[in-house]
Amino acid sequence: MERLHEHPPSPLIPLSHPLLRRKKLRVWIKRDDLLRLPLPESPWAFSGNKWRKLKYNLLAAKEKGAAGLLSYGGAYSNHLAALAAAGRLFGIRTIGVVRGELREPLNPTLAAARACGMELYPLTRRDYRQKENPALQEQLREHFGDYFAIPEGGTNGLALRGCRELGEEILAELSGKGPPDYVLLAAGTGGTAAGLIQAMPAGCTVQPYAVLKGDFLHKNIAALLESSAHCHWEVEHRAHLGGYAKHTSALIDFIRDFHHKYQLWLDPVYTGKLFFRFFQKIEKDAYPPGSRIVLIHTGGLQGIAGFNERFGDLIPNPT
Ligand SMILES: *Cc1c(COP(=O)(O)O)cnc(C)c1O
Repeated sequence: MERLHEHPPSPLIPLSHPLLRRKKLRVWIKRDDLLRLPLPESPWAFSGNKWRKLKYNLLAAKEKGAAGLLSYGGAYSNHLAALAAAGRLFGIRTIGVVRGELREPLNPTLAAARACGMELYPLTRRDYRQKENPALQEQLREHFGDYFAIPEGGTNGLALRGCRELGEEILAELSGKGPPDYVLLAAGTGGTAAGLIQAMPAGCTVQPYAVLKGDFLHKNIAALLESSAHCHWEVEHRAHLGGYAKHTSALIDFIRDFHHKYQLWLDPVYTGKLFFRFFQKIEKDAYPPGSRIVLIHTGGLQGIAGFNERFGDLIPNPT
């Protein structure tokens, strides 16, 4: 597990674009998609913010001598994919509790998870909603014996600790130039955002772009933060394009065009929506001239295969 500490570099790279020049914005991408340990069975899964969030969970499970790791997710979950890959990489048993039935042949996400050795345990949507109930917890313990449990999406205190390091790295990379004015990232549960917010100093604004519909994200992040933050933070609510994993042809065109121009892969569920909405906001002068802005590429590329399988090869597959 030493490899968790000496991770591959995730550089901050400048993004140049005519619109950014015209609006006098300086923009960097924090390449956490390069933070990755590839496996033949699952080349893209253990990466990005899922690496950050699992790091201290894996170390804690090891310290406790846990016999296995169990967590929860949907059928295309980046988190379950990452957990399965981590289990394979570090030789730990993993159990994935999956929302809804398992349809064979498995989709690319679950097939890769199983190839990594993850045991998949489906729950009906109704049971899945009750997954924190003592009765269901007991059922799982009876079935699988002892394990280290990680919540859905991997969001807990240990995950926040890993995500604080993401913020500290950004500050170190910009050292001498001062903290950025804005840090933007795609947010699901808000765990990554909360860790990042804890790391950023006053004068910096963190903007989590919600990829789910609804107004729970602000509350979730505030609850995770526990104490007040030094930096300012505000949720962007108009990035989800109708809801989680919903897409439009404009989004797909944007992702394809971005890949063509920069040879950089974005996924349609998280980072694609962040970048797409960001450029829309720039058109509307949402960021004052002279702003220094960091966009976090949180990874998520394992999800592209499943998306293409469902909707028909709309997006370049990472290679
Ligand atoms: C899971 C995921 C997120 C959301 O992370 P949260 O901590 O749940 O907000 C963002 N981007 C990518 C690529 C992800 O896989």
